[in-house]
Amino acid sequence: MSYGLISDIHGNLEALEAVLAELKDVDGFLCMGDLVGYGADPEACVERVRALPKVICVAGNHDLAAIGSYDLSRFNPFASAAIVWTAEQLSQENKDYLGSLPRTAHADSALLVHGSLPQEMAYITSPNEARMCFDAMPGDLTLIGHTHVTECYRTRRGSRIPEQTALSSGGTIELKKDVRYIVNPGAIGQPRDGNAAASFATWDVEAGAIDVRRIAYDVERAQAKMREAHLPDSLWERLSLGR
Ligand code: ZN
Repeated sequence: MSYGLISDIHGNLEALEAVLAELKDVDGFLCMGDLVGYGADPEACVERVRALPKVICVAGNHDLAAIGSYDLSRFNPFASAAIVWTAEQLSQENKDYLGSLPRTAHADSALLVHGSLPQEMAYITSPNEARMCFDAMPGDLTLIGHTHVTECYRTRRGSRIPEQTALSSGGTIELKKDVRYIVNPGAIGQPRDGNAAASFATWDVEAGAIDVRRIAYDVERAQAKMREAHLPDSLWERLSLGR
């Protein structure tokens, strides 16, 4: 069994299409949320994810905000403006789909959650924050998104301090016995780890390996659509910076 690991698409259809073209041979898809928010194509991105074969998807904070189920005061003004615009673009059918997404899900030996555990919308940006998730997670592998930073945390059973590994240029994680992992495959639609290329991964369950990859996409086209939609300048400017 092989999965495409996708997260934080954020309405960026150009980035999503580029990634899916690389994932034609996987058996299924695991999506860690934030299908919408920021980008110019929320409706098309939800449609595309819903239609993927054997897709398991959890809700992100932007997905919930777009359907009125997450407090907008927790967003900065630019993100909030994009959510108001996004809500106007989404069909009722796709809002219902976003509303149906669970906060956590299981697939093979992995647990999927947007941010962390036990709080699903908390951020993991440090070994200390990862430790809280390691303490709360039931199994040995948790797949997350949310920070838009491609990285991995690992800890040997019984050890307290997780090791943090940046994966901004991609890389392979060999999943070993007696080691526990939190893996963030990074953002497709708005990377923030200094690499503007869309970030994603594949998980080969039998081989026990997660392969993290980056792929360039048509950033200028995605930016032009966001300008046309009058989305805040800072949101499209950052796409070419990867910040
Ligand atoms: Zn996000």
